[in-house]
Amino acid sequence: MTKPQPSHSSIAPPPELLDALSSARKPLIIAHLSPDGDAIGSLTALGYLLYRMGKDPILACQDKAPPAFNFLPFYDRILQDTQGIQPDLVISVDSSDPTRMGSVYDEARFGDLPLIVIDHHITNVYFGDLNWVEPMCCATDEMIYYLTRALQEPLDETLATALLTGIVTDTRGFRTYNVTPAVMHITGELIDAGAPLSIITERVLDNRSLALITLWARALDTVELDQGVISAINTLAMRRDLGGVIRAEGLVSFLLSAQEAKIAAVFTEMPAGKVECSFRARRGYDVSHIALSLGGGGHPPAAGCTVEGEIHTVRSQVVAMLKQALQPES
Ligand code: AMP
Ligand code: MN
Ligand code: MN
Repeated sequence: MTKPQPSHSSIAPPPELLDALSSARKPLIIAHLSPDGDAIGSLTALGYLLYRMGKDPILACQDKAPPAFNFLPFYDRILQDTQGIQPDLVISVDSSDPTRMGSVYDEARFGDLPLIVIDHHITNVYFGDLNWVEPMCCATDEMIYYLTRALQEPLDETLATALLTGIVTDTRGFRTYNVTPAVMHITGELIDAGAPLSIITERVLDNRSLALITLWARALDTVELDQGVISAINTLAMRRDLGGVIRAEGLVSFLLSAQEAKIAAVFTEMPAGKVECSFRARRGYDVSHIALSLGGGGHPPAAGCTVEGEIHTVRSQVVAMLKQALQPES
């Protein structure tokens, strides 16, 4: 085990958060629905850290964690149903608003317990009793690292692996503007503690099923460029024979690689007339406020929302809104 070193960052959790964690016995930790690598990485890193501190943590996420993350600690213990459990504290990780916790947060049963929010979304609505929100952090897992350091807990291979998973996922392999010297410093420490960077990168970024690639192919057939906004749709019909694949994971970032594009969007048709929208923007453009205005959230370069409507109508209305975001931030 290695002690976390002082890094280039002075970010630290509020002291009340450390007190609340220290006095908890059975904390319930909740990651957001449709979990990504930062949701599962921060859920399992925090769960493992608290377990190592002698607590009895319960890990929960409404939607099943993708099997790509099965190398993370307590992967098999993540509950999709929290009926019957009796926590004494609730901690939400990587969620910007309470709806993101989905069905595993039962207001009637957990509403009287203290709720801690740990998140890095600029659109966070501060829905906890105690909110630790760091929009400058590249991942919630970067925050869990600072928490580990503040608790003076050592890193080990298991913890370092879970922490690096969220950082690699949310920075798409250290590509985003929020990869600071501190992030690289921390990453060096995590590798030193045994986190296998190349294996994590392969697992979380270069790991697609043939069905997913087939869905990309079908969705790519619908690509349109409207001024600087590139978009594609993913319909229920396109994925009927694809064995349960839903999201065209990674496609929206791929679309943004088009030289002509400043903003990219993928619209995913869901049952019951809902459309999931996924946005990406190049440096200098901001899609978070459009996602927020549509009831979603995210970061300036990566955001999303779910809206109701017919997929083609939603596409044209939302693309019109995105075109307004083409004025670069001054
Ligand atoms: P995605 O395009 O699904 O990978 O999401 C990009 C970013 O937007 C992530 O940081 C998500 O947490 C956020 N996001 C996506 N959908 C929603 C939503 N419905 N509500 C709030 N945030 C969202
Ligand atoms: Mn996330
Ligand atoms: Mn995140």
